[in-house]
Amino acid sequence: MQNPFQNGMSQLDKVAKIKDFGNEFIMRLREPDRDIKVSIPVKMDDGSIKIFEGYRVEYNNALGPYKGGIRYHKDTEINEVKALAFWMTLKCAVAGIPMGGGKGGIAVDPKELSKGELERLSRGWVRRFADILGPKKDVPAPDVNTTPEIMAWMADEYAKITGDETGATFTGKPLDKGGSAGRGPATGLGGFYVFNSLRAQLGLPEKCSVVVQGFGNVGLNAAQIFIENGHKIIAISDSKGGTYNENGLDIEKLIEHKKKTGSLADFENGKNLTNKELLETLCDVLVPAAFENQITEANAGKVSAKVILELANGPITPEADEILFKKGIPVIPDILANSGGVTVSYFEWDQNLKDEHWSEKEVFDKLLPMMNDAAQKTFKKAKEYSTDLRRGAFIVALERIQEKIK
Ligand code: GLU
Repeated sequence: MQNPFQNGMSQLDKVAKIKDFGNEFIMRLREPDRDIKVSIPVKMDDGSIKIFEGYRVEYNNALGPYKGGIRYHKDTEINEVKALAFWMTLKCAVAGIPMGGGKGGIAVDPKELSKGELERLSRGWVRRFADILGPKKDVPAPDVNTTPEIMAWMADEYAKITGDETGATFTGKPLDKGGSAGRGPATGLGGFYVFNSLRAQLGLPEKCSVVVQGFGNVGLNAAQIFIENGHKIIAISDSKGGTYNENGLDIEKLIEHKKKTGSLADFENGKNLTNKELLETLCDVLVPAAFENQITEANAGKVSAKVILELANGPITPEADEILFKKGIPVIPDILANSGGVTVSYFEWDQNLKDEHWSEKEVFDKLLPMMNDAAQKTFKKAKEYSTDLRRGAFIVALERIQEKIK
């Protein structure tokens, strides 16, 4: 797999070529403030001890406490976590929230653990990092394969160790344990708000055909929200493959189908397709909502969407970006498109610190203007520098960070 951190750095270099931020500033952003790898011993159900590798990268805190999720995946390694922490730094800046960037992870396939083992592993991660975490220091959250329940275990472990009673050290907690209304759908919804803000400017029709890669929290919520707003999902996939119907898929029926059969294959109203085919499907909007490095030099030329909305982090490589740019396919970049999640995480942190509880309506009413503002600032910046939206978003973010450092 292509090194995602190198991808992030080559995106940064490309931006430095079109706007002079000064060498010192760019050099500073080429390294995280610190990256830490730990080993976490876990007592397994059979009595044996297994050692897991855990990570936390604190990338930059110029704008506020380090902020970013924790990923549980068998392929998670330090370069991925560094890349994700770098993107978090820019994402918080684009969204205009007073947070820096960080990310964490554990190299584990959570499906192979029992619930008890998963809980002990999650608490173990917190014990290793408790010293550097805190509401004003570093605030983790969910990411791929980490759930509100896991955040609750982590918040509880942190409170036990430190006596912190604010609950503001972890976001993405369940509602009854200090979580915020609306955090679940926030990434998908924020992505939809960004899309909606830019739809006409990008020349898209009022009702779009949409293809989604990913059936996790982000992909699924996004699909449901697009449908609620009159668009149709013509294809969607999980890690094993997807299903296609040019007239639009019934997502609720598809969820039931997956519950029953364990996969999206052989859905009664759809035609099976591979993830490779899905990414090349003719549509108005392609939404990668799974992992890094999905659209590369090898397949970018075959993308047949009018616009790409990146809800995953880093799904398009820098080489693929160039190909898409030449083909005239605008990419709404991850650091803008998926910033709704961390924005509602910031709301959760804020509510915890003020001991407040906002309704879902209040949360969404606050989210909408922030996403609109971030989208329009990015669009304007891209125009100003005659460049793509990714570079536009980078410039918005870098200007904010540089201004704060000064
Ligand atoms: N993991 C999410 C992301 O990549 C959310 C991070 C957060 O809520 O802090 O943006």
